Amino acid sequence: MDVIADAVVTNWDGTWTYRPAVMVRPETVEDIVEVLTNTERFPSPVRPAGSRHSTARMNGDDGGTIIDMTGMNAILEITPEFATVQAGVEHLDLSRALRREGLQLHITTEIGNTTLAAMACSASKDASFPGQYGQINSFVTGVKLVTPKGEIREITEENDPGEMRLLRSSYGLVGIVFEVTIKCMPTQAIAVHHVELSLEEFKSKLPEYDREGYSVMYYLFPYARRIVVELRRFNPGKKPRSRRIWSYRNRFWRKYGPALALRIKQLAPSLTLRDRLLDVNDWLLRKGAVWFMRSSRTWPHAQTINYPRAPGPKKYIFSMWAFQERNYFEILERYFDFCEDHRRKTGYRTDIPHVGYRIIQDDSSLLSYSKDGMTMSIDPASTGGPEWEEFLHAYNEFCSKEGGKPLFNQTPFLTPLQARKAFGERLDELNAYRQKWDPEERLLDSLFRAMLKSK
Ligand SMILES: Cc1cc2nc3c(=O)[nH]c(=O)nc-3n(C[C@H](O)[C@H](O)[C@H](O)COP(=O)(O)OP(=O)(O)OC[C@H]3O[C@@H](n4cnc5c(N)ncnc54)[C@H](O)[C@@H]3O)c2cc1C
Repeated sequence: MDVIADAVVTNWDGTWTYRPAVMVRPETVEDIVEVLTNTERFPSPVRPAGSRHSTARMNGDDGGTIIDMTGMNAILEITPEFATVQAGVEHLDLSRALRREGLQLHITTEIGNTTLAAMACSASKDASFPGQYGQINSFVTGVKLVTPKGEIREITEENDPGEMRLLRSSYGLVGIVFEVTIKCMPTQAIAVHHVELSLEEFKSKLPEYDREGYSVMYYLFPYARRIVVELRRFNPGKKPRSRRIWSYRNRFWRKYGPALALRIKQLAPSLTLRDRLLDVNDWLLRKGAVWFMRSSRTWPHAQTINYPRAPGPKKYIFSMWAFQERNYFEILERYFDFCEDHRRKTGYRTDIPHVGYRIIQDDSSLLSYSKDGMTMSIDPASTGGPEWEEFLHAYNEFCSKEGGKPLFNQTPFLTPLQARKAFGERLDELNAYRQKWDPEERLLDSLFRAMLKSK
């Protein structure tokens, strides 16, 4: 296995820098056992890393050990119902392998870089199709892991559903996952179209979308108080034909959206002119989505993108909090006010459309943000920078006050108080589970030490 001493490592886009004493890239399960049991050569905390595409700082403390799982990337078995893979297999690679077999994952989320172990132990998501989970970890039915003591364990939904529920929110705190089994299904064509709505219209249309069997994802334009809703549904019995729609969208997210926003900032010397140009850009995006982004038979796999490592300034990053649907529209109205107020006070406005996902009630993971009912999220997005980070601190305060639920690896700058308010005793449950398997705190870093501290 590769062992690099005194490495300087960043997450995918350089927002976070880590200075572990050692970074290792295991190729076998025995390598992982060696790392976990040799405390002198591999100092604590040992933190697992996938593709390092989390927007929050997730991959450990300076002076510890990062265990980079991307070297274990074999697809082990595909059956019509399940795929079993090594921990470091990326979503896009699995998606392509499934497509060749006429299969797909239940959730074909947009990001292709996410590794399957990160999907199993945290909560990547997409808007729910009717009656179907939106959090990908809910489809994970089993994992194999190495415990902090170096023992090998298997946990499955069938034999231990209670422990699977804890494991799905464990963020690498109870062991290093090396194998994941996830459900899959036959490929289904997806019909998609977009509509532009006001907040009131969006609220009144939701029951109709439910009746018609749509999954509801949306783009938020807070400064225009408009919403573009992406409506998707399965088109059973039809063969998928088109990739074009998704390739336009993917190019926008990967490159052209951020590039355009940055160009506008460079071109406009005054804040007023910049705001006008961003307004025009937002208007064109809304109209473009409604007029051109429609097709009745798209490939589900084509929704998935790989983001380049070290993308430079042309990248977007985001955060997220989820809210109960019953309060959502009032909160969204106040969120639009909050964005406007923040712009008035600081001169900063976000430069990329925000997004949101409607996600079904789901108690399959301990820290599920939709445990108590259908949720809808507010995910601001931006090309980054210090003003964005300042915005995120204010956004966290706003969302916490509104009773939202964050996602540890996708909500940067979360404070322990905000985490406690959102999850309460569920954090003690996670800590008890963690202590059971890791009493010596081999895997506990300062971030989770602070988050899991009892009241
Ligand atoms: C541009 C961009 C677009 C995105 N789009 C979406 C989207 O559409 N939907 C969505 O839900 N998310 C999205 N994300 C977020 C992304 O899906 C998650 O942050 C995901 O967890 C990243 O996976 P990773 O492999 O990079 O894991 P990392 O960020 O490296 O790790 C995530 C967590 O998993 C743990 N972990 C990793 N490997 C293991 C292991 N082997 N054993 C135990 N624990 C492990 C880590 O310790 C960490 O706590 C996006 C992110 C970016 C940057």
